[in-house]
Amino acid sequence: MFLLKMYLLGIYSLIFFPVNAINTHVTEYSVLMYHNITLKELMSEDLPPLTFQRKMHYVATVREVKALYRLINKEIFGNRLIMPKIYVRSRLKGTWGECHGADLPYNKDKSRCIIILADRWYCKQWLIMAIAHEMCHQYEWDIISKHREREGLPPIMSHGPTFFRWRDKLKKKGIPLKKFNDHEKWFATQRLFKC
Ligand SMILES: [Zn+2]
Repeated sequence: MFLLKMYLLGIYSLIFFPVNAINTHVTEYSVLMYHNITLKELMSEDLPPLTFQRKMHYVATVREVKALYRLINKEIFGNRLIMPKIYVRSRLKGTWGECHGADLPYNKDKSRCIIILADRWYCKQWLIMAIAHEMCHQYEWDIISKHREREGLPPIMSHGPTFFRWRDKLKKKGIPLKKFNDHEKWFATQRLFKC
């Protein structure tokens, strides 16, 4: 964590982990399919059984997160984001994902963020939702903040209007953009837009 402290201007968490994260056998999904599939198709895939979800048997790898990042960048952000350093961690404290913005000079070839995602998920749809959430923060920090700097304003990473500017576009792909998600409502409804 000491390395991360260099970046710690802001940490934005998506949701609290349930306390009963379970340490059991896990399954890694193939990511090759993401070359020929849309976000909307991925978001409408069948959900895994509830027992699978409750045990958080959906395991994300950096490779999968990067593949999903590319897809979201293409479909939502018009490929305007530069992929930051991405980490998948087994012990994120109380969050599904984090975006850290560094106070470095702007560089058109390099992101000023790092993104960290949890490794275990209820399902792929939750992982996609979390990556999109962190990418909205990255857009704030890497792109909106650059424009703000020209106006003499400080950089921004928030859950305000600059974050939610992508909400409608994401919604069309079946991806909710929220500050937090309620996992109890998720297990009660199995509907991402209701939790
Ligand atoms: Zn956030």
